[in-house]
Amino acid sequence: MANERILIVEDELSLLRANMDFLTDLGYEVRAASTLADARRLLREAPPDLVLLDVMLPDGSGFDFSVVVRQLSNSPVIFITALSDLKDEERGFALGGDDYLIKPYDLNRLGIRVAAILRRAMYVGSGRAEIPPLSVDPSSGLCRLDGENVVLSPMEMRLLHYFMKNPNMMIHREKVYEDVWGASALDNAQTVVEHVYRLRKKLHMTDNPDSWFRISSEKQSYMFSKIRY
Ligand code: CA
Repeated sequence: MANERILIVEDELSLLRANMDFLTDLGYEVRAASTLADARRLLREAPPDLVLLDVMLPDGSGFDFSVVVRQLSNSPVIFITALSDLKDEERGFALGGDDYLIKPYDLNRLGIRVAAILRRAMYVGSGRAEIPPLSVDPSSGLCRLDGENVVLSPMEMRLLHYFMKNPNMMIHREKVYEDVWGASALDNAQTVVEHVYRLRKKLHMTDNPDSWFRISSEKQSYMFSKIRY
């Protein structure tokens, strides 16, 4: 198998170099951009398997650029930023970020996150999940609800697939994180909260009396169930 390709977008050159050396040593094929203009060019040339995206860049915002990444590729995105405000983190996830690393960070932590995200991006699920009128097919990346396509990020798709394979079960948030994200839940509970929030919105579960499905939450646990037949 060819080495997985990672695009790093970072304007702090010493950090860019450290990340590049570290990930190259781990066996990844790494490309680097220090501006969004360069990143856009590299993204078009060869879609990466993963994008590490700094938020504050000289020619714009990584948050804004993540929308471009979504349009041009299926690559998962890890935001890397000095912004540690919860609001910023929420914004990153709302834009479809798959994970979020706050500077300064330990390179080993970066390696763990990268490996986990790539592992699940490769994941094609244990086949299609179907609970009519909802179906999810991770291998084709298609989600349909009541005949309509629902656009999900790779992570949202994986999370929904997981819920559909485990319906009507209260599952603790940390267990969800470990099963779906493939990493220890130590400080990532908020990631699950954000993804569930987006799934609820995309599947019209919020304040909608005609909802087919519900993700209920109680004591930091979630349960996916069908509520209308
Ligand atoms: Ca920066």
